[in-house]
Amino acid sequence: MASLEALLAAFPSPELDELVATRRDLHRHPELAFEERRTAGIAAGRLRSYGLAPREGVGKTGVTADAGGAGPRLMLRADMDALPLTEATGAPYASEAPGRMHACGHDGHVAIALAVARRLTATPPPAPLRFLFQPAEEGRGGAQACAADGVLDGVGAAFGLHLWTPLPAGRIGINRGPLMAAVDQFEITVEGRGGHGAAPHETEDSILASARIVDALQSVVAREISPLEPAVVTVGSIHGGTAFNIIPGSVRMEGTARSFTEAVGRALPEKIRRIVEGTASACGVRATLRYERVNGATINDAKMADLVIETASRVLGEENVETDTRTLGGEDMSVFLERVPGCFFFVGCGLEGPPRAHHSPRFDVDERALAVGTLVMEAVVREAARRLA
Ligand SMILES: [Zn+2]
Ligand SMILES: [Zn+2]
Repeated sequence: MASLEALLAAFPSPELDELVATRRDLHRHPELAFEERRTAGIAAGRLRSYGLAPREGVGKTGVTADAGGAGPRLMLRADMDALPLTEATGAPYASEAPGRMHACGHDGHVAIALAVARRLTATPPPAPLRFLFQPAEEGRGGAQACAADGVLDGVGAAFGLHLWTPLPAGRIGINRGPLMAAVDQFEITVEGRGGHGAAPHETEDSILASARIVDALQSVVAREISPLEPAVVTVGSIHGGTAFNIIPGSVRMEGTARSFTEAVGRALPEKIRRIVEGTASACGVRATLRYERVNGATINDAKMADLVIETASRVLGEENVETDTRTLGGEDMSVFLERVPGCFFFVGCGLEGPPRAHHSPRFDVDERALAVGTLVMEAVVREAARRLA
């Protein structure tokens, strides 16, 4: 068992300095999905400096590098993309690119993975390894692109981590089974007959119908899904109309649905479609629904989760490993974990003070978590190599 202070005291300070410098450099220069060329170049350069031979352009802008001999590989995955929003932290290392920000911590994931890669390759690797620096995690299909490009060929197990502000530095969050939800995305177009705001009886009001659809959709989770099953239906954008006195001819809405189990995930689209079309019909307008299941749930293999729980408990102390963490946020690590056993876990990085929510312009991390993530991930890979040998 070790306190965070004791752990950091034993962590080489030049290595922590480099972790922080790497993360801050990437933080200043965020790149959006499938545009991570500078980031990928930095990752490839560092991997080369460790004596590896990285392959670039994987899944468009990703990088992989293999280490160790033949046999089933342990894959270590880090995502690289930033988000389309403008940073408002005021930090000295804030994004230099308006409209782009590492607001999810992927800059830290790259820094950690590079540190782990160096540790694991400084001496002969404990097992055949593959490092993956993945593009476009944020709902843009980076994992699918990498899988299509063969990154799982020869892989026996996959591991990944996510910096996580709801937990403080020094703590790990994990679940045996589902950790993150399946992500669906939908788009609703409501069409009526526009007209004068003072003569609604001569129109088909797409605004009123849209309001009723948004409201009615909340009954899917409240009344049609078992209260014992987590699910979310959120309408996140609604656009219609041009002036205060015009009833517009159409309204466009976008939203997301989340679930953990396949049964709920399969049931959601038809329930949503029935409510969208039925409500539109009751309002005398027409609605079309385009529905896409983006990612499956991120589900940890029970044995691999046990391995991570035991290893993290050894490194951080059992009291610092939360084993019942779940969130309805999504992750395309699911693409890999659907195909090979593995485990994804959260590395606490919450700062004191005002909330630093993921995907918010004030997002920031406690950089001590970079050392924690490095130690835990290195230990996990070494333990997996020992158990799977
Ligand atoms: Zn994110
Ligand atoms: Zn993320």
